[in-house]
Amino acid sequence: MDNIQVTLPDGSVKSVPAGTRPLEVARSISTRLADDALVARVDGNLWDLNRPLEGDAQLQILTTKNPEALEVYRHSTAHLLAAAVLELFPETKLGIGPPIDTGFYYDFQRDTAFTPEDLEKIEKRMWEIQARDLPYERKYTEKNEGLKLYADQPMKVELITERAGDVFSEYTLGPQFIDFCRGPHVPSTKKIKAFKLLSIAGAYWKGDEKNAQLQRIYGTAFFSKKELDEYLAKLEEAKKRDHRKLGQELDLFSIQELAGPGLIFFHPKGGIIRKQLEDWMRDEYLKRGYSLVYTPHVARFDLWKTSGHAGFYAQNMFSRMELDDAEYQLKPMNCPFHILIYADKQHSYRELPVRLGELGTVYRYERSGVLNGLFRVRGFTQDDAHIFCTPEQIENEVVDCLQFAVDTLTTYGFTKYSAELSTWDGGASGKYDGTPEQWALGENALKNACERLNVNAKIVPDEAAFYGPKIDVKLVDAIGRPWQLSTVQFDFTLPRRFQLEYIGEDGQKHQPLMVHRALYGSIERFFGILIEHYAGAFPVWLAPVQAIVLPITDRQLEYARSVQKQLDAAGIRSSVDDRSEKVNLKIRDAQLQKIPYMLVVGDREQQNGQVAVRNRKHGDQGAKPVADCIAAIRALIDSKAVSA
Ligand SMILES: [Zn+2]
Ligand SMILES: [Zn+2]
Repeated sequence: MDNIQVTLPDGSVKSVPAGTRPLEVARSISTRLADDALVARVDGNLWDLNRPLEGDAQLQILTTKNPEALEVYRHSTAHLLAAAVLELFPETKLGIGPPIDTGFYYDFQRDTAFTPEDLEKIEKRMWEIQARDLPYERKYTEKNEGLKLYADQPMKVELITERAGDVFSEYTLGPQFIDFCRGPHVPSTKKIKAFKLLSIAGAYWKGDEKNAQLQRIYGTAFFSKKELDEYLAKLEEAKKRDHRKLGQELDLFSIQELAGPGLIFFHPKGGIIRKQLEDWMRDEYLKRGYSLVYTPHVARFDLWKTSGHAGFYAQNMFSRMELDDAEYQLKPMNCPFHILIYADKQHSYRELPVRLGELGTVYRYERSGVLNGLFRVRGFTQDDAHIFCTPEQIENEVVDCLQFAVDTLTTYGFTKYSAELSTWDGGASGKYDGTPEQWALGENALKNACERLNVNAKIVPDEAAFYGPKIDVKLVDAIGRPWQLSTVQFDFTLPRRFQLEYIGEDGQKHQPLMVHRALYGSIERFFGILIEHYAGAFPVWLAPVQAIVLPITDRQLEYARSVQKQLDAAGIRSSVDDRSEKVNLKIRDAQLQKIPYMLVVGDREQQNGQVAVRNRKHGDQGAKPVADCIAAIRALIDSKAVSA
């Protein structure tokens, strides 16, 4: 047999017989490496450790030290799940079972619903199979043969019919389980050391509501028990912070069945917080040279034809409505409205940049299955602005947008964030709008802006929108979860579609550059993120009630009211708990409502013109003159302090 040349990551070359397996190469390097190995990378592609090498190749052995191996590991755990389900419930039909960001899932079709007890049983069986140390064996099957083999698995038959070539690969796991699958997988079940099944959810075959309803079992897997435990603890913490739960407990917002799903009602307390978010943003707009505009919620459908949304965005729009003169469309975007304002008069280069900002409410159709509290809704308000400028101005504009985004994060106490710069494919696919010059200009402006601000942006090629490159800023919340938030996005399409222009220095007409940017993204979603980030304990400047006065007995009621009046006069949102309850209960309730300051007043405080200050985080702060207490709270509000 001929020898092949295998090049290792350090550049060294090994000459081995054709058909040698990566695992054998690993063993020839060290037993340790062979033991730790999970999967290989061959010429850039992930490859089973036991799959023979066919020709000269670049080979890398991946272990738990390589994050890319985690996906393979989790996919293998999904197979383990399916194998366990088939052993316990042989009548089950299999859908698909891919790895996901947080673990893996597998879709099953079965008349009876899986119960939480079933989940425990399945997990136990998974451990039993794991202990059998079964190999994940790659096999090749001819298509016609395969279709017979899978006769009792209709969804697999469908996939094979659609996707398989004349010969396809499949993976077995023990005598019963076999899956039409491209792989690769870890070599055997004993490699899987830490996993947990998490939940059962509904799903549709191929994600289509018209198809069969399936049961999706979610699970997660990590290389070690320690990492798994950390992740599970984080899930627990996230559950406690769930904005839907806190939103109800703190009476912040609701979704009303009678009004419809995905539509948010801000209650008085949520309304106060929203006002702070809006006021801050509008003030910043004005400080930073934006103009505030207000635009309608509907417009003739013709507008959306001109903008192109009637075509490429149709699926995300509410249905049209018929009025006397035309069809109207609830707006899914603010952009065309701002464009109409820009285009309403002629602009000279001297007036640019034009920055039009609005807290604009938009409506988008989302399938009911994906709606999720404040995070995925059907009606929401964007802090949306559009900048129209000349090529010479664009870089500074992008710098200002990014700086604005960073300032926004800092204001709300987010200290960690990351950025992604999505670029095009250089025009290879033809799916992108705009000229190469425009793309170069846009991408360079974004790159330079990142450099100037020392923002380390990860470049993601071929991920731009078809109409222009963009920067996305992701924040990291208090428990380490990333959230996509701000975006700065070029648009080469809309200025062309609306024939936007300005008169240049040369007296000629030119097309302005246009940038969309949203920093909160959606106010509803940002509100949800804040609730979870602060675990409901909003900083003083945002807290719906900033201080509550707690009289120990009814004797101090009048004094309590006079204290509240002083708080009022100082612009501090406050209330008095005038119930005839024990003060300890009043404190507990105020604590549950996460009110930053509890001002307890008894006879002594009344005599001395004081309040006994209690902070929700730091507890008893001692008695203080009312004026001092007010000054301290006021200072926290004015500085928008994030911790207190
Ligand atoms: Zn698979
Ligand atoms: Zn826009």
